Amino acid sequence: MALVSMRQLLDEAAKGGYGIGAFNVNNMEQIQSIMEAARETKSPVIVQASRGARAYSQDRFLYHLMLAATEIYPEIPTVLHLDHGNSPATCISAIDMGFTSVMMDGSLMEDGKTPSSFEHNVAVTKEVVEYAHARGVTVEAEIGCLGGIEDGHGSGGSGLDHVTDPAQAEDFVKATGCDALAIAIGTSHGAYKFTRKPDGDVLKMDILIEIHKRLPTTHLVMHGSSSVPKELIDIINQYGGKMKTTFGVPVEEIQLGIKNGVRKVNVDTDNRLAITGAIRKVFMETPEKFDPRDYLKPAREAMKKVVAERMVQFGQAGHAGDYTSKPLSEMAEMYKSQLVSA
Ligand SMILES: [Zn+2]
Repeated sequence: MALVSMRQLLDEAAKGGYGIGAFNVNNMEQIQSIMEAARETKSPVIVQASRGARAYSQDRFLYHLMLAATEIYPEIPTVLHLDHGNSPATCISAIDMGFTSVMMDGSLMEDGKTPSSFEHNVAVTKEVVEYAHARGVTVEAEIGCLGGIEDGHGSGGSGLDHVTDPAQAEDFVKATGCDALAIAIGTSHGAYKFTRKPDGDVLKMDILIEIHKRLPTTHLVMHGSSSVPKELIDIINQYGGKMKTTFGVPVEEIQLGIKNGVRKVNVDTDNRLAITGAIRKVFMETPEKFDPRDYLKPAREAMKKVVAERMVQFGQAGHAGDYTSKPLSEMAEMYKSQLVSA
């Protein structure tokens, strides 16, 4: 079993009316957590790596761990996706190494911080779409900018500074032919998304619904969509952590998004919280322990629990066996003969 096209997973998700979680990884334990959750819930999966993760893992470690995942879990359609590629060169290096999907985030300039022009965004995205589709690889793009900053990437500020304009989103998809579109509706990267449970003033689900009306066949992507459950923050603080009160995106809002064209839901923070809470608990309760497995095993288990829960909530659970994965060469042929379009 090889790593597969994200486009096929998203098309299937659209047919079935469900969403797919995209979970970030940096190391073996996180990959194992996701794959075990996928097997347990029979879910197709998107595993994604940021530029920071590629640097941390020297790229090839991560890639070969993902190949191991496809050998050990052959029944799970598994995508390896680049999260927030900052330039065509970054995306092309990922494709050349074996990523089956890339995000070209041209909403920011190559520095990953400065909001770009519409024209810049269209130009870099188109360049990546041409290179990727010729190889059967999927492209996610972004219009509007998310708030916050993480791993040195992001426009900073609140999620409301650069909310997506629905008319511009429509023009952008027509101009680029991207497979999936990330939109900015008030969310931010990181743990500190909202200072209260979000309502329509800060989480613009109405804009998402408007974009879906204009682009009914485009797969929408929600970034910064950890729910930041209070229970996970509490565990960290109970065992010596110092996290402030914060609110994420409630699962019911994500489910509303899924009813309105959202097919990919990015979750990272919740898993980071689960891992850190589990490790802190072992350190605090049994300070005499020093074998890393004594705390990495519970960390892995805690992340697996969160991922499995999200897989059920997003609706991808039970769908791993619905279809046979197409090889990338077949996807490339389909793009060439325009059997798949934006
Ligand atoms: Zn993101």
